[in-house]
Amino acid sequence: MDTAEAGYDDVIGWFERVSEKACKVQSQTLRRILELNSGVEYLRKWLGTANVEEMDDYSLETLFTSLVPIVSHADLDPYIQRIADGETSPLLTQEPITVLSLSSGTTEGRQKYVPFTRHSSQTTLQIFRLSAAYRSRVYPIREGGRILEFIYAGKEFKTVGGLTVGTATTHYYASKEFKTKQEKTKSFTCSPQEVISGGEFGQCTYCHLLLGLHYSSQVEFVASAFSYTIVQAFSFFEETWREICADIKEGNLSSRITLPKMRKAVLALIRPNPSLASQIEEICTELESNLGWFGLVPKLWPNAKYISSIMTGSMLPYLKKLRHYGGGLPLVCADYGSTESWIGVNVDPHLPPEDVSFAVIPTFSYFEFIPLYRRQNQQDGDFIEEKPVPLSQVKLGQEYELVLTTFTGLYRYRLGDVVEVTGFHKGTPKLSFIYRRKLILTINIDKNTEKDLQRVVDKASQLLSQTTKAEVVDFTSHADVTASPGRYIIYWEIRGEAEDNALEECCREMDAGFVDYGYIVSRRMNSIGPLELRVVERGTFGKVAEKCVGKCGGLNQFKTPRCTTNSVMLNILDDSTVKKFRSSAYD
Ligand code: AMP
Repeated sequence: MDTAEAGYDDVIGWFERVSEKACKVQSQTLRRILELNSGVEYLRKWLGTANVEEMDDYSLETLFTSLVPIVSHADLDPYIQRIADGETSPLLTQEPITVLSLSSGTTEGRQKYVPFTRHSSQTTLQIFRLSAAYRSRVYPIREGGRILEFIYAGKEFKTVGGLTVGTATTHYYASKEFKTKQEKTKSFTCSPQEVISGGEFGQCTYCHLLLGLHYSSQVEFVASAFSYTIVQAFSFFEETWREICADIKEGNLSSRITLPKMRKAVLALIRPNPSLASQIEEICTELESNLGWFGLVPKLWPNAKYISSIMTGSMLPYLKKLRHYGGGLPLVCADYGSTESWIGVNVDPHLPPEDVSFAVIPTFSYFEFIPLYRRQNQQDGDFIEEKPVPLSQVKLGQEYELVLTTFTGLYRYRLGDVVEVTGFHKGTPKLSFIYRRKLILTINIDKNTEKDLQRVVDKASQLLSQTTKAEVVDFTSHADVTASPGRYIIYWEIRGEAEDNALEECCREMDAGFVDYGYIVSRRMNSIGPLELRVVERGTFGKVAEKCVGKCGGLNQFKTPRCTTNSVMLNILDDSTVKKFRSSAYD
């Protein structure tokens, strides 16, 4: 029986087996990683010439966790740089690394590269099949149907040493596993490769929507990697639906699509369809005039069973709008992972995003958990940490930071994510995502810490003092997710006189200064809008301090929060704003 159903039973059966004995499987996973890589320079440095093959599981785990240190990306970065520069001796993995992925966040203000291997694409295929299997149990879909998928491959480039660099999703969409996933799950993306890899948000989204409507009766569900993309795509649709309708009617393609390969590929798929066009026109007129676009998805895609994407964590602010467009369709949370490794699968697709957690897949990486305890009256959101524990010792209700040892050459690597154990699936923990540690600014896939912000503000304030007679006295920031698209706002209080063009330049400098790849890509695609610099009148931060001290303790302990969502504080800042500048960095 070669149906998706049969494949689903196999993959669920496999996962149930490995979850039942998750602790044992974790030991085996560590053993496999170490046996494959014990000769590499990094591991030899810590483990010497220990014969890992001869050790029992317990001794191996003890040796590994006692000798290999817990690290962050910065510690592994010199090795990754040597790989990027073309060094071919085994540094982190025995298998040569030929591709690097850009992970979100930065290391000392530089972009973060992590190794990408065949294992990365294979685990992506495996988790996508697994979660498709769990979804199909709750929301069965028709085999051979289509997915309206808002997916975008970014650009790739080469390092000095000739290695290919791109985001993990870009590598995945270009891999054979992406095709295999469609075949195995018997669900096919509406858009061809030329649209997915077009690289220009407006043009790609237009074609995704056009083809989604072209195949509308076949569309079984709507998906994207992160849910903000779906929200953005549909708000773009509110502006462009007439143009899309005209194209469907005539089998034509708007002149806004200028990329030749994309034009050719889309034109080859569509043909004039006046009856579909008039149906869509009727629905959209009603949606626009009477419904405020509520229920857009089920009205235009009547066979869609659900919407699926990552909706947790920094995606929560987009839920309201997603529910509005979804008009009651189930929202199914996609899985939990990172460029470094996939982590957990959603085994409860019926749960709403607010309640979802992810069952750890014990074969993908070796996971450790740093117990975290919140400080009383904590101001900076930081925790007291304890010694890391293995998966076998995690406790229900406890918060942890995740540490990964991967098949791709990361050993005891702090991911920075804070998770809570909310239950168990057989023997494997279920984690709910709390947040990325130290992260302050995020709109969608961008991740900037206080350090990143401090760095860009430092540079821009240096520029200010070099070009004017003014200086920055205090600052804070806010990720404005209510705007469409969302954007960063940075508030400055300055002393002295500064001309507008100098401040404009500072604003540009800050926008261009965030080097987190998630931010750069989102800015280029305009899924994050131009950064805004707001200059507040003198004394504003004093007022903020007074207000906060009134609520939370002594003035000598007060520190201006470098990012705020506090409405009282934002009101003071906005009421005191005297000038606003909008960055032209990505115009
Ligand atoms: P990246 O390294 O750019 O692939 O981003 C990975 C990060 O995105 C993770 O470490 C999390 O912080 C966040 N993330 C990924 N999946 C989820 C999810 N299902 N829910 C919430 N946050 C997620």
